Amino acid sequence: MDDDVRFIYDQVERHHAWFATCLPLIASENVISPLARELLLSDFGDRYAEGLPRERYYQGNLFTDEVEIRVTELARKLFRVRHADPRLISGTVANMAVYFALLEPGDIMTSVALSHGAHISSARFGAAGMRGVNTVNYPFDVDRMGIDVDGTAKLLKLVKPKVAAFGQSLFLFPVPLRELGDAFQEAGCTVWYDGAHVLGLIAGGKFQDPLHEGADVMTGSTHKTLPGPQHGILLSDSGDEKFIKRLQRAVFPGVLSNHHLHAMAALGVTLAEHLEFGRAYADQIIRNAKALAQALHERGIQVLAERHGFTESHTVAMDVAAFGGGAKLALDLERANIITNKTLLPWDTSPVKPSGIRVGTQELTRLGMREPQMREVADLVARVVVKGEAPDRVAKDVAALRKEFNTVHFCFTPGAEAHRRWRLA
Ligand SMILES: *Cc1c(COP(=O)(O)O)cnc(C)c1O
Repeated sequence: MDDDVRFIYDQVERHHAWFATCLPLIASENVISPLARELLLSDFGDRYAEGLPRERYYQGNLFTDEVEIRVTELARKLFRVRHADPRLISGTVANMAVYFALLEPGDIMTSVALSHGAHISSARFGAAGMRGVNTVNYPFDVDRMGIDVDGTAKLLKLVKPKVAAFGQSLFLFPVPLRELGDAFQEAGCTVWYDGAHVLGLIAGGKFQDPLHEGADVMTGSTHKTLPGPQHGILLSDSGDEKFIKRLQRAVFPGVLSNHHLHAMAALGVTLAEHLEFGRAYADQIIRNAKALAQALHERGIQVLAERHGFTESHTVAMDVAAFGGGAKLALDLERANIITNKTLLPWDTSPVKPSGIRVGTQELTRLGMREPQMREVADLVARVVVKGEAPDRVAKDVAALRKEFNTVHFCFTPGAEAHRRWRLA
């Protein structure tokens, strides 16, 4: 084999072997099901399809069209909405489509501040800035890690934004959309919900149902709590044909040409599996997050939103400033094979010294872990964070725990291995 090829294959092999011994706790990741993974290797990944099914600009789409139509139907069924667009190649690209469809340069959009957990795509130096959109941030209640409802209602009436955007990357509690209904009316704004993180919880009926609570459009990544391929989706229950046409045109030719047909097919399998297992999966993710938060708290770690039950989602946020800060501890945890990320917390004054560590339970849940294992995970985390134990010693016990949880659950192929099966034969 060519040296470079050998090198790359070797690194991927080592990554697989390593991850099979790790606790994956990044809140925005997941493992795809074996049936969905197979489709990522299919010839769909070598083809182009521009536009809408049966109205393509290229030939060769006889079967890709049929798949796209079925994937769209599955998404509409799962989210109980009239419009679904499965062509977006990521959550950020889905957000760009919303900017393109609903906002013009100079328009005002209200949104959550980055320091309160919003995603970079809503920032001036991200996609919002690229569209030239001016953002005004909501007042925030740091105690419950959510927008301040009264302050937000006042702001909406005062600013009258063209679009009111909601949704976060540090997303612990549902957004009070219903309570803001009158303010949306008075402002005359379009309501956009970025559900990237919580899409699988929403689809499982366990978080909130934005498109039936007042949101006009929802975007999301399909690989976070929805355990699918790295891809995106855009959904709406609007009956306004012009509005839907605007969204569709913003997707293509707006922000896409080809839309990664292999990932779209894999997304279809994910949606079918979520229709079958999504409710039980979402329920266990949230149970596990609550159990993990409680157990971390009991072991001396400050967990955010303690007075509000810590979390209603997959995410748990810790303030580890007292133990050396998020940057140091995320590295220490990685040495113990506990994979997390540092995160900025609302009270941080320096962006390069984040106090927080963010974790999510969706992937451990996918691997079959339940509440008893969350207490073991909290023990392992606390040994590194609180007791300052040598990470390599903790890593041995991490691997021992992980050994028993190496298959993908909540899918049509029970018992299939999570990290080993990736080569063609
Ligand atoms: C992850 C995330 C996105 C972007 O998703 P990608 O699929 O990574 O492009 C957008 N919005 C929020 C709130 C996110 O957390």
